[in-house]
Amino acid sequence: MDGTLLDGRVIYVVGQKFGFKSEIEEIAKSSKVPYERSQRVAKLLKGLTVSEFTGVVKAIPLMKGVVEAVKQLKNRDYKVGIISDSYTLATEIVARKLEMDFHVANRLEVKNGVFTGSLKMPLGWEKIGCDCRQSVCKRYHLVSKAKKYRVGMVNTVAVGDSSSDRCMLENAGVGILFNPLEGNIMKNVNCTVRSKDLTLVLNCLK
Ligand SMILES: [Zn+2]
Repeated sequence: MDGTLLDGRVIYVVGQKFGFKSEIEEIAKSSKVPYERSQRVAKLLKGLTVSEFTGVVKAIPLMKGVVEAVKQLKNRDYKVGIISDSYTLATEIVARKLEMDFHVANRLEVKNGVFTGSLKMPLGWEKIGCDCRQSVCKRYHLVSKAKKYRVGMVNTVAVGDSSSDRCMLENAGVGILFNPLEGNIMKNVNCTVRSKDLTLVLNCLK
């Protein structure tokens, strides 16, 4: 979602607005395993209200071409969804706006409309022996959505831009890097788009 469906990254935009962007950057650079970094970032949201958070998310612009790309995929009978290591409160907004079929993300605990700093993570890597150790193993959730919709893995398509997408992009039928953040360090990536227009991913499909 961040940097692909949205022209921005939710946690950084929220951090910028509420004054903890440098703390996020510190955590991102730390040596902790990925899911522990996600837990530490969630702690920074403690005390923020749900409406403060969703207000910021709603103001992040969609990526150019996203409405058209999703529409064309749906016309071709693709199931379209979001697998993100952001938060369900954000993926819900974007999935609804784009009339998508599913979304998977971390769940922020809320009490009386305020974030407690605690995070419920979908994980998944521990079930399949994936070495990503992310708060959301995107490979695991791609496989389980493919099973749910009775789609062979060879017919799945994944789009991502960062190392947290690696296990998903390497195992999808078609893995597409969209304006990658870290240079192409991934195996079996079929296509790379280096322009901020999501309709260009359609050229990667037959
Ligand atoms: Zn994984």
